[in-house]
Amino acid sequence: MLWNAAARRAARNEGSVADILKTDDALDAALAILARGGIVAVPTETVYGLAGDATNGAAVARIFEAKRRPHFNPLIAHVADMAMAERLAEFDPVSRQLAAAFWPGPLTLVLRLKANSPIHPLVTAGLPTVALRMPGGFAHELIAAFGRPLAAPSANSSGRITATTAEAVAADLGDRLELIVDGGATPVGLESTIVKAEASGVRVLRPGGIAADAIETAAGVRLLREATHGIQAPGMLASHYAPGAAVRPNAQDVREGEALLAFGPERIEGAARAVAVMNLSARGDLREAAAHLFSYLAELDRSGAATIAVEPVPSEGLGEAINDRLARAAAPRDGTDAGD
Ligand code: AMP
Ligand code: MG
Repeated sequence: MLWNAAARRAARNEGSVADILKTDDALDAALAILARGGIVAVPTETVYGLAGDATNGAAVARIFEAKRRPHFNPLIAHVADMAMAERLAEFDPVSRQLAAAFWPGPLTLVLRLKANSPIHPLVTAGLPTVALRMPGGFAHELIAAFGRPLAAPSANSSGRITATTAEAVAADLGDRLELIVDGGATPVGLESTIVKAEASGVRVLRPGGIAADAIETAAGVRLLREATHGIQAPGMLASHYAPGAAVRPNAQDVREGEALLAFGPERIEGAARAVAVMNLSARGDLREAAAHLFSYLAELDRSGAATIAVEPVPSEGLGEAINDRLARAAAPRDGTDAGD
């Protein structure tokens, strides 16, 4: 099957091992890889990140593929300056104040996506919000030179320990990457603190490299420490990104009145009666399918069909995360989630 071969080729950088370059020598090589939609492991002050162009769905799909993450959770988009940040998201006054106090640094702000934000929906997992952070050091220099935001989750396989040295990245992902930028051990060694400004105060969504008290002082507002299960658990997010239409994954036929989310070159029975059709990837490429998933679900939802029938997608490579997302969209919305 076409997608088997493609997924396997894509999933590894066959037989080769990543180059490791020191930060002083790595900028041009890293830029060249990012410009063609590739991914690079880079040091940040928190942990090593697996970075790709946050405006390019194929690049973001490669990040999930390299991490072998069995589901899509939203990623943090990294910016170089406030001008870039304001092109991507709407800032409220408290968030702007926090950015002024802590950027560059290990603080991530969850903000409303700006209309026409160039952030790809695979970065936000289809949410109307985006998590933004401005890193310092090499990552900062790289984003400024690239001129576009970088999505960069931690540079480790899903379920493995977070990498804080280039050697740790190489041991885990070395055969799936072209380039690892070596900036030595990361100074903070912890993920960023994620916060969201709300009407009643600033909510901590994930504790991390900046202490909650420091945030409270800088923001001059109350910190909402009590965990809202809903926002913290990606499960609540799941109901946010579920489409209004019912989703029927692994469909063997299209029923009257249904829209069709297709995959691959061949159509299931009754496809001609679909009220709207989008094909995740006509050539059966899982990376392309991943990049299209959220926007195509949203587009079929807008067709007004009560149900979206989805053709079978093989559960290998990125297919696992695609099927996970489809199953969540299909499931009753109970607000629980396995998390990451
Ligand atoms: P990381 O793996 O360090 O990139 O962290 C990503 C974390 O940010 C995940 O735990 C997400 O749940 C969280 N996150 C990213 N985007 C959003 C968002 N729009 N709303 C809420 N949380 C988010
Ligand atoms: Mg991680």
